[in-house]
Amino acid sequence: MLSFDEAIAAILNEVEPRPAVEVSLDGSLGLVLAADITCDVDSPPFDKSQMDGFAVRATDTSNAPTTLHVIEELTAGNVPQRTVGPGQATRIMTGAPMPEGADAVVPIEQCDFAEGSDSVTVNSSPHSGAYVIGRGASMVKGETVLSAGTPLTAASMGLLAELGQARVPVFPRPMVGILATGDELVPVDESPGPGQIRNSNQTMLVAQVANTGAEPRPLGIARDERGDLKSKIAQGLECDVLCLSGGVSAGKLDLVPSELEAAGVRQVFHKVNVKPGKPVWFGRLDADRSPDGRPRWIFGLPGNPVSSMVCFELFVRTALRRLMGITPEEPPTITVRLETPHSTRGDRPTYFPARLRWTVEGARVTPVNWQGSFDLRATAGANSMIAFPAGERVFDKDDPVEVIAW
Ligand code: AMP
Ligand code: MG
Repeated sequence: MLSFDEAIAAILNEVEPRPAVEVSLDGSLGLVLAADITCDVDSPPFDKSQMDGFAVRATDTSNAPTTLHVIEELTAGNVPQRTVGPGQATRIMTGAPMPEGADAVVPIEQCDFAEGSDSVTVNSSPHSGAYVIGRGASMVKGETVLSAGTPLTAASMGLLAELGQARVPVFPRPMVGILATGDELVPVDESPGPGQIRNSNQTMLVAQVANTGAEPRPLGIARDERGDLKSKIAQGLECDVLCLSGGVSAGKLDLVPSELEAAGVRQVFHKVNVKPGKPVWFGRLDADRSPDGRPRWIFGLPGNPVSSMVCFELFVRTALRRLMGITPEEPPTITVRLETPHSTRGDRPTYFPARLRWTVEGARVTPVNWQGSFDLRATAGANSMIAFPAGERVFDKDDPVEVIAW
């Protein structure tokens, strides 16, 4: 059985990013730039005022207060027509280009000015350049301003808009198929009959895929029967990544691994030394076996809802990050102090649902009252998991633990 680190290494070894594509800037949130972006203009493109006030010659105001003759009024979007000479000023608004001759802006609050008047008394002595943003202060034409590998966030997307990049080169959003397996499952909007339960994993996995920035494609329920599994797996293999839930343990009807292999999927690993989620299965449909010559990656997640969820966070998400060019690919851990004591005695490293919060003393984490891999109710009150090592150990309040936030 693989250790957690070995499983992560195997995933990173088997998954490679898809070739870059161009997408519309507005649809790029959460994706990663696949090429460097250079600036096509100076920004700002002209010297501009940072304040509403008066554009002046700094040398005119060194003995403030000084009264100056107002020769022009400039709002943003207009260009100056007149040069500011000695003893003169131009009324200027934030964002308007600086007129010739002027080298500083005095904010309106530091002036005595009656609306409509052709003179202003300036009460301060600005240095040359005060409240002026020089042409190219933020970036100059030809400069690389965003490099390949940058995640597209609100700020980086705003910057791309400033650069006129209506389309951006990115690693594509992977399509992730989600297929629940189990004779006991009914869709969420149906009432379970005797021996039946609702398919909660599909809803949860769809949300997890969306949370990662990939595109979920729910495929419904496959029965624990070879014919149904075969046809639904074939449909799922149209996606870049396929996540199945259930049917990977040692039960009589756990047919998922053998049906995947029958579909040409090569097993990379089966079982990882983690709790919950030990039976997790991972494989790859190699390029030479795939109908369109592009590889696919397939995860068989254990059916218990919390196992399924934890395995997605640990393993599937790592694969998706790799595919999407997001770094680091490994589940990002932070060290946080425990808010309450906790004893562990697991035979495997355990990913324990927990509540992470910020207090006046910094981040603190508390394990939720969790009864095991079926216990989605307790997990719904968690926002993270604590990685407890295997073995018997008592953790005291304030002991540091490793936490993965969801
Ligand atoms: P399995 O991994 O197929 O042996 O399933 C383990 C447990 O998880 C069983 O109790 C199943 O009924 C339950 N289970 C499997 N699939 C789902 C699902 N999609 N939604 C909720 N529970 C499930
Ligand atoms: Mg099952």
